[in-house]
Amino acid sequence: MSITSLSLPHGELALPAFLPDATRGVVRAVDSADLEGAGVTALVMNTYHLMQRPGSTTIKALGGLHRMSGWTRPIMTDSGGFQVYSLIRQNPKYGRLSDKGAVFTPDGGGRKINLTPEKSIQLQMSYGADILICLDDCTHADDPLEEQRRSVRRTVAWARRAKAEYARLIEQKKLAEAQRPLLFAVIQGGGSAELRRECADELLAIGFDGYGYGGWPLDAEGNLLTDMLALTRELVPPQFPVHALGVGHPASVAACTRLGYAMFDSAMPTRDARNGRLYAFKDEQPGALDEGGSWFSYVYASDNRHIKAAEPVSPHCDCAACRRYALGYLHHLYKINDALYPRLATIHNLRFMTRLMHLLGNAGHA
Ligand SMILES: [Zn+2]
Repeated sequence: MSITSLSLPHGELALPAFLPDATRGVVRAVDSADLEGAGVTALVMNTYHLMQRPGSTTIKALGGLHRMSGWTRPIMTDSGGFQVYSLIRQNPKYGRLSDKGAVFTPDGGGRKINLTPEKSIQLQMSYGADILICLDDCTHADDPLEEQRRSVRRTVAWARRAKAEYARLIEQKKLAEAQRPLLFAVIQGGGSAELRRECADELLAIGFDGYGYGGWPLDAEGNLLTDMLALTRELVPPQFPVHALGVGHPASVAACTRLGYAMFDSAMPTRDARNGRLYAFKDEQPGALDEGGSWFSYVYASDNRHIKAAEPVSPHCDCAACRRYALGYLHHLYKINDALYPRLATIHNLRFMTRLMHLLGNAGHA
């Protein structure tokens, strides 16, 4: 039996769910009322970016992430583990890694930011998040095996320390079960089935509320690493939710849901929206949501053939943009670079994603 919802301090989260990236405490161009209107059920915010701006003491002064952003539904916070990969591993000038944790030097020197497994949990807890993620050491699937092995060893050691710090804080705050945020750990191991298994087994032995698929989920050609995603999901018992970190292409989300993944987050749908790439279902009731993705298409807002388009972006969409405005008007807003364009476009793509999750959920529970 796969899991169909999570009980969180800020409400029940139906699964599967797509969580838009509100990296710096905001989904660019839209506010919390827009997100609710689009049916968004939860957001992901990023610990590494938020600790820099607006900074932890400011977030606290503003009442935590929920009060600050006016968002009343669940929030998951990312640990900063992906930044270990994207900043430090890609360019050693931006910091260094040790078994203790990560030291970021985002300006290439001078200013230093320490992020340890314990500090990451303290920050996420102080922000009032509903789901916390353990700091992990993320690699690229193509990194050598020795590197993957070190990453798994470190990820497991860090997860153990994160869990201990989490347990200490729950005890200190005397949080009842219903107010307790959940703690997820991330399964690394790159392209090695053996390392993925070892990482999953060790993390399961420590015990977490949920797990994440760590590491870049695409190969060099941009194809989803389906075999490794499938294997990793199978390593975790079905009663635990598994989050496919960074997966957000609609066809990939459909493929991963079929593999048993319950949660997704990605900047892709909102970035695509801002860049003029809008998503549309081809049919009112799309049938088989296969991984080929033939059930949806792109509508490019900049395309001059939409100048006089009097119909909405999609005749099958009930979003605030499609209910009120024609595609030709969105094209015009895009061309004159008006701030209303990214707002309407983001609302539309997020409504597409929430409808997709609903359809995938119905298909899975049928
Ligand atoms: Zn729409």
